[in-house]
Amino acid sequence: MGNRSERDNRWGRARVLVIGVGGLGCPAALALAGSGIGTLVLADPDRVELSNLPRQLLHQEADIGRHKVDSAAETLSARFPDVRIERIDRAIDADNAADVLANVDFAIDATDGTATKLMINDAAVRAGVAFSHAGVVGFSGQLLAVAPGRVPCVRCVFPDLESAAEEAEATCREAGIVGPVAGLFGALQAQQALDYLAGAEVPAQLHTYDGIGDRWRRIDTTSSLPCPLCAGLARGARGEGDQPWAM
Ligand SMILES: [Zn+2]
Repeated sequence: MGNRSERDNRWGRARVLVIGVGGLGCPAALALAGSGIGTLVLADPDRVELSNLPRQLLHQEADIGRHKVDSAAETLSARFPDVRIERIDRAIDADNAADVLANVDFAIDATDGTATKLMINDAAVRAGVAFSHAGVVGFSGQLLAVAPGRVPCVRCVFPDLESAAEEAEATCREAGIVGPVAGLFGALQAQQALDYLAGAEVPAQLHTYDGIGDRWRRIDTTSSLPCPLCAGLARGARGEGDQPWAM
């Protein structure tokens, strides 16, 4: 990992994209800014609502109705004036994702919706940009770091996610999100970014957490079959017949 100043230098030069400045994105952005990441690119089309305030710690009551990227950028700049912050106040979608990802070293998917998460996964895998995927519902959460072509992506690990999307979103609406669980997973996403930018290997592991009973599980994902996107990358990099993943 190198010495401390070398590592701080890498973080200081890095550009990290945070997609969604809500329950996961607020703690993630705060941790990244506090760790000395040079540039944060915040993307979110939404405006602050009263119901966001308990767990979206970068927004205050006076920000209600403002773009989340504006209130988040102001809060972060006041506390960490050396961090450069860029704002994208529209949704990242299949049309603009490639352009946005082309200019970042790591991305944090802090969005909440299966279709959006799959779109971000596909765009990041195609762009070759490593990213952190997290999802929280009720008292539970999951976390997966993806380095395209080197470890399994969200589609490889959850091949049925697309068909289960509607059910998952209904569950999420019913169960809501518990603030501490979102804070925990947002902070872990920031840690995955820092590890990656410091040069650590991305482990092929899915982390799951159940806050009721405090149960953590770490699941090895190396036996996941590559999804069509990753299979293409693996063929390009290693030729047919090799191990599916470069461990
Ligand atoms: Zn994949």
